[in-house]
Amino acid sequence: MDERREHSGLRITDEFSKIIESQQISNLPLEVEARWNLVETAWELGLSSSMLSIQHDETEGRLIAYAGAQRRKPVTSSRSALNGYQRGKCFYCNRSISIDEPVSADVDHFFPHALKTSGEFWQVDQIWNLVLACKECNRGVGGKSMAIPTSQLVIKLHQRNEYYISSHHPLRETLIRQMGQTEQQRRGFLSSFFDRAQQRLPSKLWKPKDAEAEIF
Ligand SMILES: [Zn+2]
Repeated sequence: MDERREHSGLRITDEFSKIIESQQISNLPLEVEARWNLVETAWELGLSSSMLSIQHDETEGRLIAYAGAQRRKPVTSSRSALNGYQRGKCFYCNRSISIDEPVSADVDHFFPHALKTSGEFWQVDQIWNLVLACKECNRGVGGKSMAIPTSQLVIKLHQRNEYYISSHHPLRETLIRQMGQTEQQRRGFLSSFFDRAQQRLPSKLWKPKDAEAEIF
């Protein structure tokens, strides 16, 4: 807690001690680094973070910042940047994942990448559509693969994106630009994407076989 005004210092809380003792401690420095890199990149490019256009590069596993058509700059590992909301858990089944070595998390396209073959779904590489998933959920037997998740999971994705926006995460402005100014617009964006994606890839909607209790 920032108590520089009252006691000229920072106070380390009990919550912080709990993080240090938990499995999450290996993910924390990576996530802090990722947040910092996002802010620093905006400065380097001479932009406010609201002007930064961030996309995920599948091959590099990194977030890339674009400033105009010519300037492309790798920013940070996509895994580290996405871990904040998920607190080291798979987005779908809530089992523990690690973004440190050995890595047990995949960066997964919530609405499958296969949709991209149609120009209508060009946004699937954007941040709002990326989550961290355990390997079983993403590519195991009965895994998600090319399926579209259920509407309950779409609601969870919406909550995740709103969390980033309300917590002033450096990806906040990027998400607002990609999905809409208001909570209602962003919900409408997702719901329309869900309907159109089901028409394009009609199959049974997917959810994990067994999920552990929600962390939120
Ligand atoms: Zn999982």
